[in-house]
Amino acid sequence: MTATDETSAGPVAVRCTYHPEVETLLRCSRCGTPICPRCGVRTPVGMRCPACTGTAVRGALETEKLVRAGGVGLLVAVPVGVLWGLAPEWGFYLALLLGFGGVEAMAKVVPGWRGPTLQAFAVGAVILGIVVSRWVVARQLGVDLGEVNQFTPRLQRGLYLRLVPDLLFMALPIAIAWVRFR
Ligand SMILES: [Zn+2]
Ligand SMILES: [Zn+2]
Repeated sequence: MTATDETSAGPVAVRCTYHPEVETLLRCSRCGTPICPRCGVRTPVGMRCPACTGTAVRGALETEKLVRAGGVGLLVAVPVGVLWGLAPEWGFYLALLLGFGGVEAMAKVVPGWRGPTLQAFAVGAVILGIVVSRWVVARQLGVDLGEVNQFTPRLQRGLYLRLVPDLLFMALPIAIAWVRFR
């Protein structure tokens, strides 16, 4: 990409932060992020980027960014899930942390982006965090995961002890993830 860069003072075409396939000379008047006519927002003080104006960017997100956002989501979701499993009595707060923490961390990687793909990734990360928490709970209760398929009384007891009361707490971060990238 730098092969054609010139050392002259003239504006150099760069790729739009939100649409890497678009070459552009536009930059956000506030933060300097390269933007293009598709995502730039016209304001009285010049073109601004979606992140600065809080506008949603839609369209196909680069796979690399999507994967990075998903990875960041998991980085938050998995430890929070472990904590949740170890301290189920903190379920409500950990559910909020899983939702807001995980989803906002993802939003930082892809500022301004919304859409069904991101929603799916965010909800997926949250659900994995929940699964991790259930796995830890199962371990804490002494439930052998090999019993899952047999649905033994011990597993059933574990389910009723923890899973049912926690269902509402589980719906919470999923809803947060869903709404955030809608
Ligand atoms: Zn900006
Ligand atoms: Zn753009």
